[in-house]
Amino acid sequence: MIIKLKFVAAFITLLLIILVSGCSTTDQENTPTVNSTGSNPEPTPTNLPTESVETPQPSPTPTPIPEMLSRYTLSAILDYAAHTVQVEEQISYVNTTGSEINDLLVLVEPNSYPSGFTLNNLTWEDGTPITNFTLNGRELSIPLPENLLPGSSVGMDLSFQLNLPNQNAPYGYTERQTNLGDWYPYLPPYIPGEGWLVRDDAFFGEHLAYEMSEFLVDIQMANPFSASGAELVLAASSSPTMDGEIYRFHHTPARNFAWTVSDLYQMLETQVGEVQVKGYSFPFHPQADGPALDETAKSLAIFNDLFGPYPHESLSVVEADFLDGMEYDGLVFLSHAFYDFYTGDPQSNLTIIAAHEVAHQWFYGLVGNDQALEPWLDESLSTFSEIYFYEQAYPELVDWWWENRITFHNPQGWVDSTIYEASGFYPYRDAVYLRGAMFLGDLRQVMGDEAFLAFLRDYLEQYRAHQATGDDFFNLLSSHTSEDLSGLIANYFSRR
Ligand SMILES: [Zn+2]
Repeated sequence: MIIKLKFVAAFITLLLIILVSGCSTTDQENTPTVNSTGSNPEPTPTNLPTESVETPQPSPTPTPIPEMLSRYTLSAILDYAAHTVQVEEQISYVNTTGSEINDLLVLVEPNSYPSGFTLNNLTWEDGTPITNFTLNGRELSIPLPENLLPGSSVGMDLSFQLNLPNQNAPYGYTERQTNLGDWYPYLPPYIPGEGWLVRDDAFFGEHLAYEMSEFLVDIQMANPFSASGAELVLAASSSPTMDGEIYRFHHTPARNFAWTVSDLYQMLETQVGEVQVKGYSFPFHPQADGPALDETAKSLAIFNDLFGPYPHESLSVVEADFLDGMEYDGLVFLSHAFYDFYTGDPQSNLTIIAAHEVAHQWFYGLVGNDQALEPWLDESLSTFSEIYFYEQAYPELVDWWWENRITFHNPQGWVDSTIYEASGFYPYRDAVYLRGAMFLGDLRQVMGDEAFLAFLRDYLEQYRAHQATGDDFFNLLSSHTSEDLSGLIANYFSRR
């Protein structure tokens, strides 16, 4: 997750709070440490299950992964010193929705910044100019000359310039790094009967949803050296092959493609099975660099065993010049604060949040969701996955995790809160992340370890490469247990 930086005063206050709480992990022994993204207590179900005669139903057949994916072919030249990117993009959009589509909605996140996005050219794939489009804020709307039938595709070419905002965030630049998350125009999922899944952004939480797609990306540096003369280092959602000075990437099937560049990055590398794990960090805390990579690799190995194989050939963990962690498909950011205050033991945010962000590769990457209206689907599952990590990597710290990550915060609120409903970042975290993990802990206790894990695996299998909803989650759950969960659900969810 990441906190939006829109409201500067509120952000500065939040920053101070988070930094203070980050520091507290280093100097406390018996009191719970405070983490920037929260955690959860011993599961204590307040509503015990009652007996039921219902028998589990067989699971539905998994929805197949679409054979045809929408494809994004991107060619980008970054001018690191000028904070601009020139981009040529070809989109081949495939209608996998099963219903006809009569207009295209392309999301242009960079256009939410003043002068952040300049569209130089927009044509259909045959070169015909597209003239009847509207670009309002983040939404580029294009009426289709004729309806796009299910299984059909439509192509367009865009040429544009990004002027990156100066902000410490997953999109923008600071003195220490330039981040390109959600940097290209793309089509969000289309929900038959509802339309394009577009949500407003909010002060905290994520608001985007992504269809599984194919990414072919070429990146070049206008100048391979920074103003200080140091060589620029690039980290991305996948590993490149080099063609002269061009980095060439092929990332598929994937939710998105993110990249980041710095003249400070130091790179470490390890291997988990066939997966190359790469760590990129600033040179100010050598004691944290190895552990950041190792905990990421350890998380990957544990979740591979539990949830099924990670679907890409590489995973990069990158030190972020912003607060907290942030997930992309194939690349995760961890705040510099986690490195700066790393104590050398696994009772630290570096370890907790590494496990959390890696878990998002399954709950966000493999199975997508509407992050704005149902953020609990990826956030509670990723927070709960941290306990799986500790159970296997540091079993002696399981009680500590519940106490530190959850109980200490005495979390309140509904698990199914949207990103628009909570009154602030902490109430949002407490409700969605912490109470979400409590719910899953209680559910696991009620169902038993094996049945609970079988349910999670089935959920990942059924909705692999698709979007899942809360209804999907609970419908599938009912086929995995005959317990009466109504009391448990009523305790945590306001809409069920
Ligand atoms: Zn998260």
